[in-house]
Amino acid sequence: MSLRERLIAEIVERGPIRVSDYMDRCLHDPADGYYARRPDLGSQGDFITAPLVSQIFGEMLGLWAITIWDGLGRPARFRLVELGPGDGTMMSDVLRAGRAAPTFLAAAEVWLVETSTPLQAKQAARLAGTGVNWAKNLGEVPTNAPVIILANEFLDCLPIDQWVADAGGLRERCVGVDASGKLAFVSRNANGYSASSGGVVEERSAALEAFGEGIGELLAGTPGAGLFIDYGRDRKGPGDTLQALRGHQKESPLASPGHADLTAHVDFPAFMAAAKRGGADIAPLLTQAEFLRRMGIEVRASALARTNPAKSDLITRQLERLTSAAQMGELFKVARVYSPLLAPPPEPR
Ligand code: SAH
Repeated sequence: MSLRERLIAEIVERGPIRVSDYMDRCLHDPADGYYARRPDLGSQGDFITAPLVSQIFGEMLGLWAITIWDGLGRPARFRLVELGPGDGTMMSDVLRAGRAAPTFLAAAEVWLVETSTPLQAKQAARLAGTGVNWAKNLGEVPTNAPVIILANEFLDCLPIDQWVADAGGLRERCVGVDASGKLAFVSRNANGYSASSGGVVEERSAALEAFGEGIGELLAGTPGAGLFIDYGRDRKGPGDTLQALRGHQKESPLASPGHADLTAHVDFPAFMAAAKRGGADIAPLLTQAEFLRRMGIEVRASALARTNPAKSDLITRQLERLTSAAQMGELFKVARVYSPLLAPPPEPR
């Protein structure tokens, strides 16, 4: 039975499920989940991410990691952790930038936090020979050394719940089955469930908040910092941001469970507040363009274009894609979270 058929059977038997449960099943169901079974990143796949646009993206993150390591007092051993490393491209670019600081590279023990078996295999192939370690979640990574955490497009996979404004007030939007036997959004009211008519007015991710608190607690006890890049909002915003992408096309999140990547805009204020509650220091949120410019992306792009004159136009287009307001520059945000043990702050805030 397909994931769709199984979900329908379960809902018919036990009732509608929360949007977060639906997302979780679509992404991680062991038999049919998108990441568990058929993740397909890149220009030929379902979606493209910044590290796949240009090697410079990962290199800038590598420079940031070196800055933090320097601020940590250049420890002889630290853990360089990436959450949701995709096909391993970003970590290989981070490590390339690390060659500029051989003692940094020698001190780094690389950990990849990944749930997807097919993606772990891709990471192993791309990073062969670099001695990386894998964990299924951040809790499995030892904490007896400083830690520098990087994550691009990881937070947007954490499941959200949604509420709609119906005639009767605020009601939770759930995934049910309609009269014709198809998956449909329904809203929950005092008498049970009804077809969901009103628009989504609130989204909340308990998983994002729990994860943020966990990061805060980790950094409260272990020197280090984390960098979280994702598409998302810098203030609370009403509206439906649950999105399914398949073959670079948006489709209904209910259209093909397990066959499309399912994400939501990251609620950065909620994430940062949770990290602070957990005990971390947080820096002001930056846009991706601001962050990359601070790290010197323009200088790096010019240098790369000088050594590859034939690719100069391509490099300019890639730079544009990462930093322009019309493309990824402003929709994507950068959250920086520090251990309070890291004082003074390692970079301008
Ligand atoms: N960072 C990569 C890939 C982004 S896709 C890039 O920018 O190209 C999301 C990644 O997060 C995938 O590697 C996916 O398998 C992983 N992932 C999703 N949910 C996860 C979870 N709960 N725990 C660990 N990894 C997860």
